[in-house]
Amino acid sequence: MAWNSIIGQERVKRLLIKTLEQRTIAHAYLFYGPKGIGKSALALEFAKALLCEAQSNDACGSCKSCKQFETLQHPDVHLVFPLPIGNNEKSGDDPYERLTDEQLSTIREQLRLKARNYYHTIEIPKANFIKINSIRELKKQTALARIQSRFKVFVIFEAEKMNTEAANSLLKTLEEPLPNTVLLLTTNDRDQILTTIISRCQQVQCMPLSEDEIIKALIERDGCSESHARSAARLSNGSYWQAQRIIANDIEPYQTEVINFLGYAVTRQWRELIAIVDELVTREKYDIRQWLQLLQLWLREAMVLRETKIDNYSFFHAERCKRFLERYPNARLNEAITAIDRAIAHLDKNVYLPLVITTLALDLHQLITDYQL
Ligand SMILES: [Zn+2]
Repeated sequence: MAWNSIIGQERVKRLLIKTLEQRTIAHAYLFYGPKGIGKSALALEFAKALLCEAQSNDACGSCKSCKQFETLQHPDVHLVFPLPIGNNEKSGDDPYERLTDEQLSTIREQLRLKARNYYHTIEIPKANFIKINSIRELKKQTALARIQSRFKVFVIFEAEKMNTEAANSLLKTLEEPLPNTVLLLTTNDRDQILTTIISRCQQVQCMPLSEDEIIKALIERDGCSESHARSAARLSNGSYWQAQRIIANDIEPYQTEVINFLGYAVTRQWRELIAIVDELVTREKYDIRQWLQLLQLWLREAMVLRETKIDNYSFFHAERCKRFLERYPNARLNEAITAIDRAIAHLDKNVYLPLVITTLALDLHQLITDYQL
């Protein structure tokens, strides 16, 4: 039942369900894979099922334990995540004790959002790493008796953000596991975690989601239109988080902008091109990268349209795409897509942005109009 709330990840779900059926619970698990694919959602559902009074392979959703889990305030579940350092916080302090009221209220609000939607990413200002005091608190809690359940579960989000002191402290806990205590770690960056920690955890590799899985989730959970969902899914690299981010920024103006850019490049309208470059330099690298991918996506769709002639294709500016193909039937689209790859590679290497974009504009002009110098 509760597993239904997880997007995709069928292999991991099967693995966890089997673990629950056989009751072969390890002391620690490390859920790893790219950001935004549902690692913490999987960890939380697993924790919920472990604690559920029905003791089956899925959380029942109606017992006392499941009800308490709904608000993420279960007495046998402890969540650990990056927190800001408190005012005059000393080693051994309670990790929350010296935070301001405002910080505490942000944290409460973030946890409320996480409880409502396991795909929510907890974001707290100045929370750059997992504090040693949070791990000390975890150790203190592991030493206390369970309150009502068969297990005591600790979920550590963004485990790569433990600093050395915190990681070494956690390692000791992993080396001397206590019965009925389960640690669930999640990370986007396994390389940042001590190998001694990794080796003491059962590895749960989570893969990027498929485009179809993301499209379905965006339509059903976020109320997206199909064409929007499709564009966002293509740009998301298999990350639901990234797809939601694209939707939240509302990609429509960017879609128009990239097509305009292509038009100006092809027809060599320099004044308009420079205006776009001036606007682009003010944006984050991440957004520029996405902007370039959006252009690439449109050219890919143009290629499909040219090959299949299916004109009810649902994607952005499909009408303009048809006109574009009529005007430039021999455009070297494949090479144009490769030229954008090159531009993205240069962007990643921090090549001067106006140079990257003007070089791309010249390449596109030549490849699309087949103009020879
Ligand atoms: Zn239950």
